[in-house]
Amino acid sequence: MKNSKKAERLMQIEADFGAHNYHPLPVVLEKGKGVFLWDVNGKKYFDFLSAYSAVNQGHCHPAIVKAMTRQASKLALTSRAFYNDSLGEYERYITDYFGYDKVLPMNTGAEAVETALKLCRKWGYLKKKITENKARIIACTGNFHGRTISIVSMSSDPDARNGYGPYTPGIELIPYNDLAALKKALEDSNVAGFIVEPIQGEAGVVVPDKGYLRGAAELCSKANVLFIADEVQTGIARTGKMLACDHEKIRPDILILGKALSGGMYPVSAVLADDHIMLCIKPNEHGSTFGGNPIAARTGMAALEVVKKEKLAQKAEVLGEIFRKELRKIESVRLQDVRGKGLLNAIVIKPMKGKTAWDVCLALRDNGLLAKPTHDHIIRLAPPLVITKKQILKAAKIIRRTLKNM
Ligand code: PLP
Repeated sequence: MKNSKKAERLMQIEADFGAHNYHPLPVVLEKGKGVFLWDVNGKKYFDFLSAYSAVNQGHCHPAIVKAMTRQASKLALTSRAFYNDSLGEYERYITDYFGYDKVLPMNTGAEAVETALKLCRKWGYLKKKITENKARIIACTGNFHGRTISIVSMSSDPDARNGYGPYTPGIELIPYNDLAALKKALEDSNVAGFIVEPIQGEAGVVVPDKGYLRGAAELCSKANVLFIADEVQTGIARTGKMLACDHEKIRPDILILGKALSGGMYPVSAVLADDHIMLCIKPNEHGSTFGGNPIAARTGMAALEVVKKEKLAQKAEVLGEIFRKELRKIESVRLQDVRGKGLLNAIVIKPMKGKTAWDVCLALRDNGLLAKPTHDHIIRLAPPLVITKKQILKAAKIIRRTLKNM
């Protein structure tokens, strides 16, 4: 598909005036509704990325738009220097929703991860009595927790990490899905926390073995180490349960949420924990001008309400099964693997005749479905959870046709 002059012009100004820190698929979007996106020429697409699982509730969900715009026209930002009439209500709502004593509101996923790391270190010194500056946090290879200096210090991805040193000390990497490695790492009494994605999203939807998360949580508990779940991508119904940790019936000591907490409408993230952990941070020791602002609070409540009312977790579970079954029926030498949980899925593509997952995504785009490769050979397939069975079958057909024609 050749892009229109208008699209070319819009892509060119981004290239001319924006930093080159992304490499978007060449499609210029101007409208979204539910599971669909439209480009500047009016072509309609299935959205199979959902802004990296931020738009679980579908584009421009009317209930979320209403809550957000109503608050935006009344009071947008007070900072936390003063109280406002929305934050407390939101805090009560979200702590009740996920079953924790307290929430610390932030904006982006990376900020919430940073907050969790700080909280964990503070707890390590105040409660576990680790010697000052000796606290360590264990993370997993293949992780993606965001882009700050400390977070890329935990990364094993050269693209994310190289050239950004010196790195934050006090972090140790162990292989993902490896309980023996975790057990060994936990022998050090200076370990304060273990941070993990229940499914590694950016790594290409890597689903650990059944029992891994439960085993990890138990090992942490025995070692008096905080189990920190980064559910920024997997949380809020994406994998077929409200939290991916719910699949193994475990409750993280620190829970990190973002993305779909606002239905993708606004940067809203959160760290949840019980009092004995959360109250280790005292006034003036951490914060954010925008965190917990009235728009975020109202948008967050509306977004979570939609997830419950529309039973999005149950939908993701049922439709995910159907979707993977359809994908596994595709007979194509290019298709090496289909994996995932709920509606967080990926296909692994075999590069052939110089064509990679990027070329598959271009062809999918031409056929009316938007997805993005992660690494050279993996395509994540994660539509908004409001998708219907009929729509998911249609999307699977587009994927089949695209792979067969390549
Ligand atoms: N944690 C996980 C598991 C993520 O997938 C992401 C983003 O993809 C982040 C953290 C960072 O979130 P943000 O891009 O909002 O900073």
